[in-house]
Amino acid sequence: VDLGDVAAGEILRVGSLRLLGEVLSVDGDIATVQVYEETAGLRVGDPVEATGRPMLAQLGPGLLGNTYDGLQRPLGALAAGGAARLRPGLTAPALDPERRWRFEPSLADGATAGPGDVLGTAAEGPLEHRVLVPPDAETGTLQGLRAGEFTVSEPIGSLVGADGRRHDLALAHGWPIRRPRPVARRLPVDEPLLTGQRVIDMLFPVARGGTAVIPGGFGTGKTVVEQAIARWSDAQVVVYVGCGERGNEMAELLAAFPELEDPRTGRPLLERTVLIANTSNMPVAAREASVQLGVTIAEYFRDQGYDVALLADSTSRWAEALREISGRLQELPGEEGYPAYLGSRLAAFYERAGRAVAVAAGGGPERVGSLTIVGAVSPPGGDFSEPVTQASLRLAGTFWALDPELAHARHFPAISWTRSYSLYVGHLRRAMARLAGPDWEALRAEAVALLGREQQLLEIVQLVGPDALPDDDRIALEQARIMRETFLRQHAFDPVDASRPPDVQLALLRAVLAAREGLRAALDDGATLESAMASPALVELQRAGSLAGDDVVERLDELAARLRRGDGAAPEPPEVAA
Ligand code: ADP
Ligand code: MG
Repeated sequence: VDLGDVAAGEILRVGSLRLLGEVLSVDGDIATVQVYEETAGLRVGDPVEATGRPMLAQLGPGLLGNTYDGLQRPLGALAAGGAARLRPGLTAPALDPERRWRFEPSLADGATAGPGDVLGTAAEGPLEHRVLVPPDAETGTLQGLRAGEFTVSEPIGSLVGADGRRHDLALAHGWPIRRPRPVARRLPVDEPLLTGQRVIDMLFPVARGGTAVIPGGFGTGKTVVEQAIARWSDAQVVVYVGCGERGNEMAELLAAFPELEDPRTGRPLLERTVLIANTSNMPVAAREASVQLGVTIAEYFRDQGYDVALLADSTSRWAEALREISGRLQELPGEEGYPAYLGSRLAAFYERAGRAVAVAAGGGPERVGSLTIVGAVSPPGGDFSEPVTQASLRLAGTFWALDPELAHARHFPAISWTRSYSLYVGHLRRAMARLAGPDWEALRAEAVALLGREQQLLEIVQLVGPDALPDDDRIALEQARIMRETFLRQHAFDPVDASRPPDVQLALLRAVLAAREGLRAALDDGATLESAMASPALVELQRAGSLAGDDVVERLDELAARLRRGDGAAPEPPEVAA
């Protein structure tokens, strides 16, 4: 395009259909433009219109419950308008321009306000939508700020700067998707994002404001884990980005989500969720934008003082979009054709996670929000040595490595306990002691040690058979098996077991680990391991995954006490020597 005066990152309207395009690079008078839509039919000489602004996310009431494509086109509104497919050039405002929201100011007219200040609240579902002064505004005096029913773009008042310049305020504002929204101060991450998944919360937890990476080959359960977090985690707002994955999966999600209930409030889960769909059958270029759009929306809710989770499925498809764009620019390719800046782009993405005090110019209570990023990675052929997995590994606070052998054996979630890790364990010690129980750290260490021990013992058994092992080792093998089957395994679609609170999770772990003492005592009394394993308490333990009710913790603790005593294990009479 020979538009002359355009800047890299600027949005253009290309051709008679006014397709959305973005300037990738400028060389003299010639700009290279990435068109985000199907370009069939474009011709030399077609008109191009500059907009003078970069790609902006529209941030305001109406985001929650909405479904967007990677360019923030509202898919629901377009479908309601009769568009069965996303035709090139099709557009609609991201936030409903007609809808009015009840606004209640929290600042008085004449007050001083500036970047990040809360102007008031808009009534939107169960979440208090805090209307913010845009972080790039200038400090000034509020004029005409008033309660009322407003659309997202109508002025709700204005901010008059020291130089007398007037800046109109509205319920919504735009923010460039590639520019991280500023925070006042970053805070240490020392609270967990609870997911309801035992193997995650108890063994490899992720912190609020932290990052987690889920690499796994096809069918190992990445999407199920992401969706479990969307559904069960204790984030207040969830932004789910379906990026380059199969369209039918996203369609299932879109069909299922409106039915789902928020486990904590009983209200529709959708009321605290924003969905962004850019599936494999949609133009690849918009994929790159979809992830950035998702993070920007997530940051906006973080700035309001909420705990937000951004779930991206899958970052590999996003990296592939980067590779395609880089290829078209004829940039020097790096490893496996990915651009040399793959690592820094991934880093820039994960660095937008964090826990922080929000920017606020004036007084008012301090707002602390967090943004947790969970990115799935789909390495081709499940080979973790490929560039996207390797680059992500360096950025992940928590690494949930999915194991194809576990998935094949229908052990779900197929999170490998040998290859996964969490760097947050030490930081979360105090919070987990409060939320799950004071013995969390000790029991966690014991569980990890037991699973490691099992690995070694299984190798020995391969060589010499189980009978050659001393009693303690045979007990450890039984215990590890129960740990895997009752504790680590968790059926995502089971109505009771799909999600468990932390104290229930820990009580189960406590019971599994308690089994050792009782088994030891029974064997010392002369029982065989087989008969000891058949004791009522051990049989009960192996069914404990389905325990339901308000008193599960008490019942599990009681069971643990019985297991420790070895209750009910009828010792067999010692064999009489002939
Ligand atoms: P991926 O996204 O890695 O390709 P999916 O998340 O779609 O894989 O999982 C593939 C299949 O594995 C699911 O359709 C489901 O049948 C099964 N699965 C995965 N995780 C679980 C789970 N926690 N509980 C039960 N089944 C699961
Ligand atoms: Mg998937």
